[in-house]
Amino acid sequence: MTATLIDGKAIAASWRARIGAAVADLAPQGLRPGLAVVLVGDDPASQIYVRSKMRQTVEAGMRSFDHALSASTTQDELLALVAKLNADPDVDGILVQLPLPPQIDAQAVIEAIDPAKDVDGFHPVNAGRLLTGTPGFVPCTPLGCLLLLHSIRPDLTGLDAVVIGRSAIVGKPMAQLLIRENCTVTVAHSRTRNLPEVCRRADVLVAAVGRPELVRGDWLKPGATVIDVGINRVPNPAAGEGRTRIVGDVAFAEAVDVAGAITPVPGGVGPMTIACLLRNTLEAACRRRGLPPERWSATTA
Ligand code: NAD
Repeated sequence: MTATLIDGKAIAASWRARIGAAVADLAPQGLRPGLAVVLVGDDPASQIYVRSKMRQTVEAGMRSFDHALSASTTQDELLALVAKLNADPDVDGILVQLPLPPQIDAQAVIEAIDPAKDVDGFHPVNAGRLLTGTPGFVPCTPLGCLLLLHSIRPDLTGLDAVVIGRSAIVGKPMAQLLIRENCTVTVAHSRTRNLPEVCRRADVLVAAVGRPELVRGDWLKPGATVIDVGINRVPNPAAGEGRTRIVGDVAFAEAVDVAGAITPVPGGVGPMTIACLLRNTLEAACRRRGLPPERWSATTA
């Protein structure tokens, strides 16, 4: 193995500690940031995500407001709750856990959130701000990827970056962030021709596809920095009948021999997503009160 392992778990823990210290610094001013988390229905994976988001919010010294609604909640009921949270002065950030049940138009709910409290960064106003290079909220997963990249290469200027995936929550904002970092960016997707060849150009490769081990070792430029966003559950017969394990979008065992640095799955991008949610919530609390950016607003440690 030659690649440096980018330890997302440790890097996320150090960001959480930094955020916790900044939250503690605000206490004498009577300010305690608050995050409202809305979960509709009983999807087990969403329940796990929401529980860890709420636990880490409290551990960072912030307030967590829990809103668990039944799977039969109507769109009007959810919009009424969002309106209430928009108006609540104790709520700095609002997170509506996706996916939502089929009777609810998720885009309408996202667009109903006050952009100043949109800590997921999914509102079109925040997407537009990222596109135009003006201050706004950046979606947590691509922001986490950028912090991981900066832990290896604080200056990405001039590098060739390839992002595989063009979703609104990962691929597209990731590409925008890398443009902002002065990379030359290629966005590859399901219709890209000759994906291995495109990937071989990349000094920085971000894979956000959702296809287990799609990216092979011989698709990588030697020394490339590889960020694997994928979370894919695959059968794991070695552990017993019916058992599964999580793998990324990159064939890790092959990639470690070629890449310069790589994130593991699990323990890479995953832990950074919640750390960035806390970061955005702290930023929302400060911005809403006209407080200047603090030490946590940098993207390098
Ligand atoms: P998505 O399904 O919305 O988008 C997948 C993208 O991959 C699409 O743009 C599609 O064009 C592209 N794609 C599909 N097949 C392809 C192929 N064969 N070759 C090239 N491109 C292809 O998914 P998403 O929400 O962007 O998530 C991507 C992955 O990242 C998933 O595995 C998801 O679980 C994971 N994810 C992880 C985190 C985290 O916190 N670690 C957060 C969000 C998503």
